[in-house]
Amino acid sequence: MPTFQTVRGMRDLLDKEAQTFTYTMSNAQKVALLFGFKKVFTPHVESLELLSAKSGDEIRQRMFIFEDLGGRKVALRPEFTASIARLSTSTLKNEPKPLKLFSVGTVYRYDEPQRGRYREFWQSNFELIGSNKPEADTEIILLTNQLMQTLQLQDYVFKIGHIGIIRGILSQDGVDEKTQNAILQRMDKKEYELALKLVDSEKCRHTLQSLIDLKGDNWRGIIDQIKVLVADYEQAKVATENLLEILLLVTSSTEISLTVEPAFARGLEYYTGLIFEVYIPQLEIALGGGGRYDRLIEAFGGEATPAVGCAHGIDRIAIALQTQNANYSMSLGRKVVVIPITDSVKVDALKIAQLLRVQGVSAEFELMGRKMGKALEDADKRGLDYAVIVGERELKEETVVIKDLKKREQVTVPLSELFEKIKN
Ligand code: AMP
Repeated sequence: MPTFQTVRGMRDLLDKEAQTFTYTMSNAQKVALLFGFKKVFTPHVESLELLSAKSGDEIRQRMFIFEDLGGRKVALRPEFTASIARLSTSTLKNEPKPLKLFSVGTVYRYDEPQRGRYREFWQSNFELIGSNKPEADTEIILLTNQLMQTLQLQDYVFKIGHIGIIRGILSQDGVDEKTQNAILQRMDKKEYELALKLVDSEKCRHTLQSLIDLKGDNWRGIIDQIKVLVADYEQAKVATENLLEILLLVTSSTEISLTVEPAFARGLEYYTGLIFEVYIPQLEIALGGGGRYDRLIEAFGGEATPAVGCAHGIDRIAIALQTQNANYSMSLGRKVVVIPITDSVKVDALKIAQLLRVQGVSAEFELMGRKMGKALEDADKRGLDYAVIVGERELKEETVVIKDLKKREQVTVPLSELFEKIKN
């Protein structure tokens, strides 16, 4: 028989890595609770029609599509937003606004696999539906900031832009929406020359090129320069004011490091306003990102409803934590193995292991039926702290032997004191 391997782009997550994922997801869950987001689970499989409604060509072309046995055209979700839009226009249609929903799980995109880019990957996703206020945009940035903080990531920076600025300029210049999408897609890939080729007007090209060249740490200065560049473009002016208002709210409510890049675009077609991504200096790939999508809900048949959201790439956060040697522990403290010397005390040894677990001690049991020497050797190799050795003679005296595997010392203690001894 050949040995099997994972399908290209799919990964097994083992032990330490799996723990990092769980740690990240539990922190995302904590942030959701802190900001009052309700958790929802939605299906991995959705109708192709729903998923391709408004994702943009980029993602549409990379979906895992298949026909189920009932002949339905379906696909694995490439993101959460479509499912949340479906929920908000159906089951949750009459819920009071804003709807604040949190999800976590795997999504699927037929990307070219490389470090930090997989075909199955994990996201934590936050959607805030029903508010067009800048405080809603602010909330999404603040909660992403809080997640990065609770994970203890260092030196992370937000890259911030506003799709309304570019769309405002293009619309005023008469560029249709389809061409706008094509331009934004190229800008997202930093193919600026190709993007500008799609623009007819010389003035418009010049304005866009100037926006592309605008970069720097001084975000206030950048905003001032954008204002000058878009002075003749009404919609773009409104968008710049909106971006300024959000940035003032964000920076006055928390310590945050950010840069403003007016020509920054994101792959998903549905954004209409603020967009952002978050990076650490050691990695070129974004750890998370999001933005405002005010026309998406109506595209799914709902009433016109403003919305803003974000997704964090858990696979990439795990790489970031590893890169920065972030220290965290999911252990319960000291680790113990319980070893019966003979079969005759197996039941008592099992009871003792159970007693420890009930008190919150990580207690393994010798499951291979090995002799004492071999069992201790194995516990030692795996870095356990103590062996609790259960023997017939000791049991008669209601005692057990605790062997400290690090100090290589052993003591006999009354059973009633076992927990205290291990704890201390
Ligand atoms: P998006 O849903 O495209 O806004 O992406 C949100 C986040 O998901 C990104 O910032 C990445 O951290 C992560 N991400 C996107 N695509 C991939 C991928 N192919 N593999 C791993 N993580 C990804």
